[in-house]
Amino acid sequence: MTARIGIVAIQGDYEAHAKGLERLGVGHAFVRTPGDLAGIKGVILPGGESTTHLKVMKEEGLFDALQRFAANGGAFFGTCAGAILLAREVHGPPQASLGLLDISVLRNGYGRQLASDVHLGPTRLRQEPLEMVFIRAPIIESVGEGVEVLAEDAGHPVLVRRGQILASTFHPELTSDTLIHEYFLKLAAQG
Ligand code: GLN
Repeated sequence: MTARIGIVAIQGDYEAHAKGLERLGVGHAFVRTPGDLAGIKGVILPGGESTTHLKVMKEEGLFDALQRFAANGGAFFGTCAGAILLAREVHGPPQASLGLLDISVLRNGYGRQLASDVHLGPTRLRQEPLEMVFIRAPIIESVGEGVEVLAEDAGHPVLVRRGQILASTFHPELTSDTLIHEYFLKLAAQG
């Protein structure tokens, strides 16, 4: 049986992640309060506005609950704002984060003018290139020891993983390609 996945549904593109999981026939639950994490194997932190996510997560007690979920071996997949929330260190400007992945990120790192961009690029997950949609994306400035870089774009890591924590600065949920979600499901099932 495949792992049941929770999608943090505060704001942003959580519906697109839900559709992506539906395409793969995987059950999901929207996570808004700590109680919603019951029976969940992996959590998706969607794109959107990381400051808003942070504020609501703290108000709802979800921030601490997600850290406990990680400490108990739960898997995470953060896309764009979600990657910012997972990072150990955030710049531009500095802000709090869950600190579950040893990366340092610069918010809106490609500049506010370059709001959105679609690139076709290689990944270490398969031979064929992947369509990557960037929307006011952060730049991953550095990765710590043991963090695996699974894809790069313009000289920066854009898909990284350590253990069961996966982060992309692009939005795989906005294309019909299920590669990254399938990869995450494998990680979540290992937990
Ligand atoms: N720029 C947003 C932030 O800093 C992230 C954008 C996104 O998730 N598409 O939180």
